[in-house]
Amino acid sequence: MEKKDFNLHDVVEMKKPHPCGTNRWRIIRMGMDIRMKCEGCGHSVMLPRREFTRKMKKILEKHEE
Ligand SMILES: [Zn+2]
Repeated sequence: MEKKDFNLHDVVEMKKPHPCGTNRWRIIRMGMDIRMKCEGCGHSVMLPRREFTRKMKKILEKHEE
């Protein structure tokens, strides 16, 4: 699935928005767990990769190298 081919620094949309009302998350750490930061309020969340993949809806912005 191309649309789930995420990388560090990409901005993604999740199936559920953050309670602050923003649904833009930047991936700030990749590993067994994925850490992402809400672009609205700056709150960061860590999810196991499997759970992240399930909850992620689409990639909004690909990070350019
Ligand atoms: Zn937020």
